[in-house]
Amino acid sequence: MVHFVGAGPGGPDLITLRGAELLQQADCVVYAGSLVNPALLGFVREGVPVYNSAHMTLEQVLEVLEQAERAGGNTVRLHTGDPCLYGAVREQMDQLDRRGIPWDVTPGVSSFCGAAAAAGVEYTLPGVSQSVIITRMAGRTPVPERESIASLAQHGCTMVVFLSAGMLEGLSAELLMGAYTPDTPAALVYKATWPEEKVVHCTVGTLAQAGRDHHISKTALVLVGDFLSHQYQRSLLYHPGFSTEYRTGDGSAEPGGSL
Ligand code: SAH
Repeated sequence: MVHFVGAGPGGPDLITLRGAELLQQADCVVYAGSLVNPALLGFVREGVPVYNSAHMTLEQVLEVLEQAERAGGNTVRLHTGDPCLYGAVREQMDQLDRRGIPWDVTPGVSSFCGAAAAAGVEYTLPGVSQSVIITRMAGRTPVPERESIASLAQHGCTMVVFLSAGMLEGLSAELLMGAYTPDTPAALVYKATWPEEKVVHCTVGTLAQAGRDHHISKTALVLVGDFLSHQYQRSLLYHPGFSTEYRTGDGSAEPGGSL
């Protein structure tokens, strides 16, 4: 069987217990070498073959998975963060189905969560933004036109931009075509949860300069939005004037209440 496992954002203790156990039991491991922390390979038993998929094509990965399956073992296909984001897993799953090879998925902590932890932020602040757009710039690999940064930026909500740290000039220009201004807060989070993690606060207007100043051009996320300014309304959920299924409030924060 093939287990797709989310490795988490970098810190080797941020893989799930299930993911670590699968790695310990694996008879073969194929990991996404460019971003998975090699320290995670410490979970793998001695003598187990380990392949770095950064040097392999889809065909070569499938060949390894197929051979391991024929030998009757368990294979871990280790992806950075959570496999469901920019993991190119769908094509592997479909090809495994075609070959009759069973697979399952163990989620991981995505880097957008690791970046929030590194920056100490909440993406969904009451009165500021209740939506997070996860996207990326079009680069050597395309993004559908209707999802251009400029069009998504119309919402002015929290944005987390993957795979774009090498295109900060263009990213900044596209963000400014939407609802953001040059002063809208932004942050570059480099290698969140790795020992070399860096969090650089800047604005939409100074993104490219911040990238140059701090030598960040890859393995980073760009966070954009007013959530970074930490000005917000307090939550209703924990307000003494608001009732929930578990707690009775005095009604002052309910619609029509005194607040
Ligand atoms: N599946 C992964 C994303 C893979 S795409 C996930 O859930 O996080 C690779 C991109 O993810 C990188 O270019 C970078 O933008 C981002 N990324 C991955 N790990 C990161 C980390 N530790 N810190 C900041 N960005 C990271």
